[in-house]
Amino acid sequence: MAKLLAANWKLNPTSIKEAEKLFLAASRVTRSRKNVEILICPPSPFIDRLNASNIESKVKLGAQDCFWEEKGAYTGEVSAPMLKKLGASYVITGHSERRRYKQETDEMISKKVEAALKSGLKVILCVGESLTVRAKGLPEAEKFVADQLAKDLAGLPRKEKSAIIIAYEPIWAIGTGRAAKPKDAVKMAKKITDLTGAQVLYGGSTDSNNLEDFIQHKEIYGALVGGASIKAEEFKKMIKIIQKYV
Ligand code: PEP
Repeated sequence: MAKLLAANWKLNPTSIKEAEKLFLAASRVTRSRKNVEILICPPSPFIDRLNASNIESKVKLGAQDCFWEEKGAYTGEVSAPMLKKLGASYVITGHSERRRYKQETDEMISKKVEAALKSGLKVILCVGESLTVRAKGLPEAEKFVADQLAKDLAGLPRKEKSAIIIAYEPIWAIGTGRAAKPKDAVKMAKKITDLTGAQVLYGGSTDSNNLEDFIQHKEIYGALVGGASIKAEEFKKMIKIIQKYV
């Protein structure tokens, strides 16, 4: 079973020195394996520094977002080709924090997905329902996620859809310490794969204690990890766990 463990550092840490320390810790336990990838998505300014550091590493680097245009009068934006040149091989799009704090719409996310694919970045597209939707039951949550996928991947042929990695991240599970039930995550992952052909990560309050509950299922390709990924010892444990699975 091929697996991916992806770290979303969000707006952390605050210095390149701390970033290098975290990256080094992860790199020390990351082995070169054909079927397992360890990915770290730091804040964009650190991508280049980590890529160019002299830390010997099998850890891949990714970005947490990209813009849809390649150049122009778009103050503050960073393009997909720029990120690729800095050393990113992946980009996260549609994270619920960007949907919430930056008012990203499905239409914007769809353009970002296309721009990222065009530049040769692998895409991790985040989808997931709110607590209000989940309270109505799993079928409602599935409908909500299906609708997000239809809009975020609008216009992409099935072949391209299946090359995207979808992170199922129920919003109510992110950073709350209340992960989804693995059996529900498996059901959702299966539904997403049926709809798109894509592989599915689970994200939302994973740590070294519950990672195995998710990744032991063939429907779950791995995890997108937030909080636990900026705790060096915790993330090292998670790397060791996922490396056992392949
Ligand atoms: C995330 O924000 O992508 C995430 C999964 O966060 P956490 O692991 O902290 O819930």
